[in-house]
Amino acid sequence: MEPSTQPHTQTQQSQQVVCTLCNNPPITACPGACQELLYCSTTCQGDDAPIHKLVCAQFASLPPKPKGKQILGVLFPENETTPQLKWIHIGGFADEESGISFHEPSVDSYFADDVFPEAMHSERNRVRNRDTRSMLEVWRVPPPKADGKEVVGRLLGEENQCIKALGGGKGAAGPFHAWRGPVLVLFMTRSTGFMVDPGAYRDCNLQDFGDAVDFVYDYGNDVHERRIKEALDSLGRAAAKEMAMGGERGGDGEGQEKGGEEGVESQETGKEDEKGKAENETKAEEGPKNIVIEMEA
Ligand SMILES: [Zn+2]
Ligand SMILES: [Zn+2]
Repeated sequence: MEPSTQPHTQTQQSQQVVCTLCNNPPITACPGACQELLYCSTTCQGDDAPIHKLVCAQFASLPPKPKGKQILGVLFPENETTPQLKWIHIGGFADEESGISFHEPSVDSYFADDVFPEAMHSERNRVRNRDTRSMLEVWRVPPPKADGKEVVGRLLGEENQCIKALGGGKGAAGPFHAWRGPVLVLFMTRSTGFMVDPGAYRDCNLQDFGDAVDFVYDYGNDVHERRIKEALDSLGRAAAKEMAMGGERGGDGEGQEKGGEEGVESQETGKEDEKGKAENETKAEEGPKNIVIEMEA
């Protein structure tokens, strides 16, 4: 009789395995306590050591998961230089009418009493030029907002010494942003279709930690914004040109004809199309709500 247990593997088979630093195929693993993080060479392994050693042993000797719904997150403390792995309680409530469960991580205790922390989300590691393994949820002290002439709100908390001391690892410059107060990073499964899916919070792993370090260290680096803006500008120009040529309305042949005969008219047509498109996009954005929901099983 066959044993009923499934073969057990430790690797994440569904995701492409690449070198932690440079995305090349990996051939070696961390020789330290974790024996898990993969690299293409001893060079990349050595280059990543200053960052990875911060948590290599922490991961290998994690205390058992506490009871209740708890997930592993990364805290970059305000006044210490080493990031810390923390068990974060996931609370929530069920909406009786819809049967939908809302999940909410208990993050307030990591922030000062007068702080209402805000979360940012990221699914892209811009330093390593790849998607992140998990969706990052980065909780931080909200920045003061400019309201007309005056900056409203106080700078709550001192500059974060942990992020300042990170060094960022190979390929990262920074930090580009003076983080205030503690920063707590949580992780979720990706691509649920919702901005935040609370049911999909999951424990930080070694790759997630690297993604979190890259995010906080690189945040505010406007090289990426400039690149994105350039890409959008050129996309916008291409789209505008396409619409001026007839776009969605007329079909290819007709549109080209029109564009050739009447320059001014086709420009106006383009504007109308643009307006219509913008309206459609607005409608589309109204669809999925920016909330954390999970269907009750
Ligand atoms: Zn490499
Ligand atoms: Zn290790």
